[in-house]
Amino acid sequence: MAWTNYHSHFKYCDGVDEIDKHIQQALKYGVKSIGFTSHSPVHFENKWSMDRRDLPTYLKEVEEAKVQYAGQIEIYKSLEIDYFPDKAGLIETFRKDFNLDYTLGSVHFVDTFADGKPWEIDGPLLTFEKGLLEIFSNDIKRALKRYFEITIHMLEQDCPTILGHVDKIKMQNHNKFFFDEERSWYRDYLSQTLEAAAQSGTIVEVNTRGLYKKRASETYPGRFGLQRLKELKVPICLNADSHHPKEIIGEYENTVVFLRELGFKELMVLKDNVWQARPFDQSGIK
Ligand SMILES: [Zn+2]
Ligand SMILES: [Zn+2]
Repeated sequence: MAWTNYHSHFKYCDGVDEIDKHIQQALKYGVKSIGFTSHSPVHFENKWSMDRRDLPTYLKEVEEAKVQYAGQIEIYKSLEIDYFPDKAGLIETFRKDFNLDYTLGSVHFVDTFADGKPWEIDGPLLTFEKGLLEIFSNDIKRALKRYFEITIHMLEQDCPTILGHVDKIKMQNHNKFFFDEERSWYRDYLSQTLEAAAQSGTIVEVNTRGLYKKRASETYPGRFGLQRLKELKVPICLNADSHHPKEIIGEYENTVVFLRELGFKELMVLKDNVWQARPFDQSGIK
């Protein structure tokens, strides 16, 4: 089976290059199954989301690639859909309206500034600090609680096939400035979210982007979260969150070794349109 990646972006959002470049590179890397997940359009001006007018062309290009590369690589059509608690149901609506093969649900925005603009939690540090101050009076604990609450809300109200980068907010804490990830209150928030994931039936992705972009010292989630997922028997898949062809299996080799060390034996893959658990080792997924 070799490798898979169900979280990838190309030119339609903040990713780069044509879909063909991504597929050609995926073939070189031995990827046998790939899903495209450009950022879904949102209800406000945002520079890295897809323009709503581009959506039909994006979907058509993925559909055409499926046919063009049939027999060489399985290609799946999806979107990385932003979750907003007051827009619950949108993930399912996108799936149905655009006949997506699966959905990837992510939280990138937490509440709003006084002017109504959503607070982006994985953008520049200055934006992060501004929201933390203006929306949460610099109370990092309250901000993190809210981030995980929204994620739980998504899992309960509008569950995606795959939960995207469950603790990506920790990228802002790369220098350990804001909080101590070992503290029990933080671990409890993460743990409660993973318990909600276990209840929901979602697949939790192990996202390697922070590692190869050097924005995090661990995958999303890291050791603690992965151990909890193992205990809770939550299915996982390996995703690169690639935005460039060269990132399609970024940091996979180290990550699978680590997953094996933690006792994981299977990864979820999409084969012939069906999600299934497959064994894996350093050389790939069987
Ligand atoms: Zn994302
Ligand atoms: Zn992404």
